[in-house]
Amino acid sequence: VRVRLDVSGRVQGVGFRPTVHRLAESMSLGGWVRNTAEGATIEVEGLQAGRFRDVLLSELPGQAQVDHIRTFQLSPQGQDVFRIETSLEEGHPTTLITPDLATCSDCLSELFDPQDRRYRYPFLNCTQCGPRFSILKKLPYDRHNTSMTDFVMCPECQIEYDDPRDRRFHAQPNACGVCGPQLDLPLEQAVATLKDGQLVALKGLGGFHLLADATNPKAVSRLRSVKARPTKPLAVMVASLRRAHELCRLNSLEAQALSSAQAPILLTKPRPDSPLRDLVAPNSPHFGIMLAYTPLHHLLLHDLDRPLVVTSANFKDDPLPIDRPPEGMADMVLSHNRPIVRAVDDSIAWVLADQVRLLRCGRGYAPLALTSPSEPTDGRTILAAGGHQKSSTACHHQGRTLVGAHLGELESLGAVTNFSQRADELCRLYQVSPEIVVADHHPDYASSRWAEDYGPTKAWHHHAHLASCLLDNEVDEPVLGCIWDGSGLGPDLTIWGGEFLAGDRREVRRVHHWTPYPLYGGEVAVREPRRVALALLDHLGCNFPLPFSPLERDNLRRLQSPLTSSTGRLFDGLSSLLGLCQKAEFEGQGAMFLEFLACPNEQESYRGDDWPVAFEQILKDLENQVPNQRISARFHNWLVEVIVMVAQRTGLRKVALSGGCFQNRRLTEHAWGRLRQEGFEVLLHRRLPPNDGGLSAGQAMIACV
Ligand SMILES: [Zn+2]
Ligand SMILES: [Zn+2]
Repeated sequence: VRVRLDVSGRVQGVGFRPTVHRLAESMSLGGWVRNTAEGATIEVEGLQAGRFRDVLLSELPGQAQVDHIRTFQLSPQGQDVFRIETSLEEGHPTTLITPDLATCSDCLSELFDPQDRRYRYPFLNCTQCGPRFSILKKLPYDRHNTSMTDFVMCPECQIEYDDPRDRRFHAQPNACGVCGPQLDLPLEQAVATLKDGQLVALKGLGGFHLLADATNPKAVSRLRSVKARPTKPLAVMVASLRRAHELCRLNSLEAQALSSAQAPILLTKPRPDSPLRDLVAPNSPHFGIMLAYTPLHHLLLHDLDRPLVVTSANFKDDPLPIDRPPEGMADMVLSHNRPIVRAVDDSIAWVLADQVRLLRCGRGYAPLALTSPSEPTDGRTILAAGGHQKSSTACHHQGRTLVGAHLGELESLGAVTNFSQRADELCRLYQVSPEIVVADHHPDYASSRWAEDYGPTKAWHHHAHLASCLLDNEVDEPVLGCIWDGSGLGPDLTIWGGEFLAGDRREVRRVHHWTPYPLYGGEVAVREPRRVALALLDHLGCNFPLPFSPLERDNLRRLQSPLTSSTGRLFDGLSSLLGLCQKAEFEGQGAMFLEFLACPNEQESYRGDDWPVAFEQILKDLENQVPNQRISARFHNWLVEVIVMVAQRTGLRKVALSGGCFQNRRLTEHAWGRLRQEGFEVLLHRRLPPNDGGLSAGQAMIACV
């Protein structure tokens, strides 16, 4: 019997062919396997060839993902040896690109084994771990198509690479201290610099990071001043899960996510006595932590023996640097000679409603491959330009939506240049040209302006959020979408952000929204919650002491001010009324303070389905000196009750929650719980972020119509 299997999915760069080889030998089958543009093709011949497909599927390597297998019966050729053949580079590449993977346990043991030839070699890797997307220039994923192409393997590495029984068989970035990439300075120097309380810029996997000793208040405050981030939460990297447990209260799902091959920054709860909390995440409901994910990070943390603050080595709104960090940012730069092909930021994840969910899609996850519940009738390729903040692009091709890595805010020239260079990179990797380009209706988004050259299709911001949540949940039917965020242009050309949309990716109807209120001075108000508070009070005709001079007040009221129905701004307005945040360091800071403050077991809620009614009750509470903790909790509770109320009115049984406001854990968890209690099915984001990072995928779905 001879059988051919055409396998598509994520089967390159994950140890797929060695597994096939091992299984074929163990079943005494002859034949061959090779990578193709579509994935891999296998031919097996022998008595047990008919069983091979099932055995293979039950023994796939950890990071492999098989989407589809086509099986053909062939006539036997009398082949009794099994071999691995070289790749064919014809045809359009469609195989899934593997994300960068954190150092596996086998490699980690070698790294710290003085007897091993790779003892303390900072770039060791194997078929189960190491760089992938960040070094990929071209498909298929073979060494000469990566930035490892200039490193010639030494005889020992070559033997491993060629031996199907070796765990480095065809590990494309395979390297050792003799033949592979090297650091440009001794590691000890970086360790000493950090111990000394100074800042080190480190070339990591997907770009340069700025590091500081997380236990040294002076070092952290220097990093904050260099980055102009006086209070914004920072992430901490530790050497091991055991170290993470010392700082955070982790449940088993969180521990699993942290130590996975994706190794995201996990937003979790710090231990109440954690000494680092006030330094790295003051007044934040979350604590961002990750484990070392490359051999270089493992060595550094091992030698340093303390947690590190790790943040991108860029100035505000600039892209993550891949060639060198900005001049003067760090006291020392530790670099190496393995080129980074594209910047890949760290991913951010959290465990919510019993699942690991992404808040930023980057290293370990990007490029994300989602199967669309429906396909454009003519099979055209779509390129979606995404939003303006937390931007990302997506390519829809042959029934799959591929989402690239987080590209950040498109607020600086550097970021916009980076965006235009990388917007179509997934299309380029798959050698397809976009036939439909889709962008947000907002004319001032850098992504929309970029798309102009292509005569783009347009998608409305909040519709794209809903479509993205539907794709993420593989749902293709009308639902109620509660889409709450900071701002996005609505079809009536006001700024939306507190929307209930009933419908699907084809069309939506706005079934409920907040009464619009002015945004004094436009987008500037995003950084000044006190302006929002003033606008809300003016709308209500109320007086309340706010930190403005009478002149400032009058000037603000005279400005041309767009109307908004934003939920994000309501959070800002309340944070100003409670005296928590008058000027914000970053968007969402007011909401973060409110969430941090809200007392956990408050049962009461405000009444009504619109903000003016609720804010009148809030003002009464303030007058009665109800503590801020309770007011904040009542406000959160009220928002949840509004969702339940509107859901009950519309009669749709599925409710999708999307938009940046659902990065508020309290709001999201309570809404999830209450809606389920009332018999609704709740669609939360899983792989696509609820914030604007998910817009591109949603736009692609809308353009499918
Ligand atoms: Zn490994
Ligand atoms: Zn070598």
